[in-house]
Amino acid sequence: MHEVAVIPGDGIGPEITEAAQRVVEAAGVAIRWHEVQAGEAARATSGEALPGAALATIRRLRVALKAPLLAGRRTGGITVTNEGGPRRYPSINSALRRELGLFVNVRPVRGFATLSGAYAAMDVIIFREITEDIYIGEEREPEPGCAEAVKRITRAATERLARFACEYALGRGRRLITAVHKANVLHLTDGLFLETVRRVVEARPPLEFSEEAVDAACYRLVKEPQRFDVLACPNQYGDILSDLAAGLVGSLGLAPGANLGAEAAMFEPVHGAAPDIAGRGIANPVAMVLSAVLLLEHLGEGAAAARIRRAVEAVLARGRVLTPDLGGSATTDELTAALCAALQSV
Ligand code: ATP
Repeated sequence: MHEVAVIPGDGIGPEITEAAQRVVEAAGVAIRWHEVQAGEAARATSGEALPGAALATIRRLRVALKAPLLAGRRTGGITVTNEGGPRRYPSINSALRRELGLFVNVRPVRGFATLSGAYAAMDVIIFREITEDIYIGEEREPEPGCAEAVKRITRAATERLARFACEYALGRGRRLITAVHKANVLHLTDGLFLETVRRVVEARPPLEFSEEAVDAACYRLVKEPQRFDVLACPNQYGDILSDLAAGLVGSLGLAPGANLGAEAAMFEPVHGAAPDIAGRGIANPVAMVLSAVLLLEHLGEGAAAARIRRAVEAVLARGRVLTPDLGGSATTDELTAALCAALQSV
């Protein structure tokens, strides 16, 4: 029996979490879920968006399935008060990642037959550094009408990302790692990122290195996605490219992700809490289900993970039970039921 923390999250979070748990159960994997409250739900009950107890549970279990969270956006950030005094973060997502020592975000984006049209064969893995870059939240307003933000890139964090991408790529038979940058303008920051990734990858044959400016990378992802295999990105470009890639294969509702560190792993969809459709029962659960697939692979449940993936592919290819974001009219519940039924025949 695996023990896994689960954060049901905000907005559509609870709906898609329940869906993913149903699918995992239907695949026959025994998991004891430890529910952890964080986000607006936790703030409403305990006054804190990220209570110390939530962090303690995830640290103890070392693995979590996480739905999207909202807290921090409207309030200009959140404060974590446990152990060692208050620490301020720009959002609850960055607080969770930093507090748990998670440093890389992995976002595999694969096309689906029929549904993804011209992008059906797309198969890229985006590695996004998640501890630095412009998202460190160091902004200031030196004078009215002028605002600045600090972009921080370090060799140490970039090496860690690049090494991680190399291991992951080698373990999955991938060959090409492309560093995404804007070093022609940001000579120091993106220049450091580019040269660091180059050095790490070039020392790891048979891996091959290539580089692409972020604007060109967007263009090529749209025009020739097959040119890419593994992308190594600083925080901001990785954030943007992974939404773009998710859109190309059909919907944000299809893209899973993993946040990994030395001490813990947290699996979550690329998309946000989608408050515009929350509570209507029409959220697409697939990104959350595929995040659970990544979690199962991490737990060593590769066979069950592969079965769930095949069930997702079969249901999407049939095209009869699709949520509105995919052009259908099915509910979250109906799509979840179709996935559970498909599991019996894949
Ligand atoms: P974040 O900044 O946290 O990534 P966001 O504000 O960019 O979030 P999302 O919450 O991801 O935005 O939503 C963007 C759009 O995609 C919304 O219109 C939302 O309804 C839609 N969307 C996101 N996830 C899903 C899903 N699982 N199913 C259906 N639609 C979704």
